[in-house]
Amino acid sequence: MRTGCCHFRLAGHTPVLTLGEALYAAQGVRASGRKALKPHPDGACPLLGRDGRCTIYKHRPFGCRTHFCAEAGGMYPRKHVADLIQRLEALDERLGGSGSRPLEAAVSDALAKM
Ligand code: SF4
Repeated sequence: MRTGCCHFRLAGHTPVLTLGEALYAAQGVRASGRKALKPHPDGACPLLGRDGRCTIYKHRPFGCRTHFCAEAGGMYPRKHVADLIQRLEALDERLGGSGSRPLEAAVSDALAKM
């Protein structure tokens, strides 16, 4: 796994999550034994481990899997992932979400609801 894009301060961007993604990521956080997110000392994703690996790899958001990061194999052309994005947006609506939100706020709120 290449984690350059997980260093938000350096990368200059943060992934955004729909509610379904946030709830799934929160499950990953809980599964790792944590109840809340702690800021990363380097301004990186709070889910990036000290070993440089994603601590919720199996639960990571869609953007981390596809088009968020060129180093990780993206940007995927939108037409290749449009169907998946629409499905996530439809799920967000069904769950009562309010659209995509920055990772830290989205996952923290999802953890608070668990
Ligand atoms: S959730 Fe994981 S893969 Fe995505 S930015 Fe955070 S550490 Fe990186």
